[in-house]
Amino acid sequence: MKIGSPKETFAGEARVAMTPDSALQLQKLGYECLIEAGAGKAAGFSDDAYRTAGVTVVENSAALFAQADVVAKVRPPETAEIERLASGKTLISFFYPGQNKELLEQARATGANVIAMDMVPRISRAQKMDALSSMANIAGYRAVIEAGNNFGRFFTGQVTAAGKVPPAKVLVIGAGVAGLAAIGTATSLGAITYAFDVRPEVAEQIESMGAEFVYLDFADQQQDGAATGGYAAPSSPEFREKQLAKFRELAPDMDIVITTALIPGRDAPKLWLADMVAAMKPGSVVIDLAAERGGNCDLTVADQKVVSDNGVTVIGYTDFPSRMATQSSTLYSTNIRHMMTDLTPAKDGVLVHNMEDDVIRGATVTYQGEITFPPPPPKVQ
Ligand code: NAD
Repeated sequence: MKIGSPKETFAGEARVAMTPDSALQLQKLGYECLIEAGAGKAAGFSDDAYRTAGVTVVENSAALFAQADVVAKVRPPETAEIERLASGKTLISFFYPGQNKELLEQARATGANVIAMDMVPRISRAQKMDALSSMANIAGYRAVIEAGNNFGRFFTGQVTAAGKVPPAKVLVIGAGVAGLAAIGTATSLGAITYAFDVRPEVAEQIESMGAEFVYLDFADQQQDGAATGGYAAPSSPEFREKQLAKFRELAPDMDIVITTALIPGRDAPKLWLADMVAAMKPGSVVIDLAAERGGNCDLTVADQKVVSDNGVTVIGYTDFPSRMATQSSTLYSTNIRHMMTDLTPAKDGVLVHNMEDDVIRGATVTYQGEITFPPPPPKVQ
């Protein structure tokens, strides 16, 4: 069978779902690989690099979709791409079926099978296919780099002949995959890092990365926002008040605030309010990684950098992984390759869509003309 990746059509998207390296691995699984001309350019992979890796360069997206049995891409398909799908073809991409009901119906109507990389169950066996985590890890790292780029001082403290420089103070709100990556990056640059999460189990991880866990003066401690399955639940009003009071206390002292707080299936909770931004020092920076879902900060504008009246920069970019397109394409294409390994049990270039397999079933959102989202809960944890 043939697997191919088109050039992403979403404005500004620089990632690509197949790299020359991942193509070599896919060929070992028995597949013939195709790439649309120029698809890897923005991520640093030339057509020649693909040719050297044995990939056939196809002139345009229409030809690629026509020839490929399996299409692997990054962003959810756009209408023109959906129209090129057909029964017997498989699409693998981010899809967000819960937020894209119409797209899901359009995909179903084509008869193609669709595997959503954002629906891969978060169980140990599937970690190598967990593209949400690999992209969140990059976003967390890049958030700190972006903060540094907009912050007029060092992260690390220094004693120099020209004077003593205090270390920057960084607060990370939400310590999931992106938050932990941000903590690791900020501490490695020498900042004094604080972190808060509603899930108490992350306190140890935060501390092991050299950051200080921010505790609240609350009877149930952080327990309140913790829910089953490793994800957060909305906090009670009392808990929220304690949390906001703590943030208000910290605001004047923090140079950089990185917010990543999300609750599955909901808008981002507002946690860094306008008065907290107003209390920060001029030159401070807020990076809001929850911008795509409405933002954790009152002042966030998605995809924009705004500067508050008191000189605080608030960044709501939603394309952090794409800003590191070589790295994110390498990791994402590896996630795809692992998915293909599970879909190709005999390594003979023949895709077997085994709906009895928890991971494949969980990620499949349309199958043989039916919508198969949401999936049943996984059998194995
Ligand atoms: P996420 O991006 O959905 O959310 C980010 C963080 O925000 C979470 O840690 C959440 O607890 C926190 N948060 C929510 N509301 C908050 C509030 N009001 N104040 C402060 N923080 C708040 O999270 P994620 O990175 O996708 O990870 C979520 C969970 O999934 C974690 O338990 C993680 O360990 C787990 N996970 C498991 C696997 C695996 O087993 N394969 C892989 C990735 C993640």
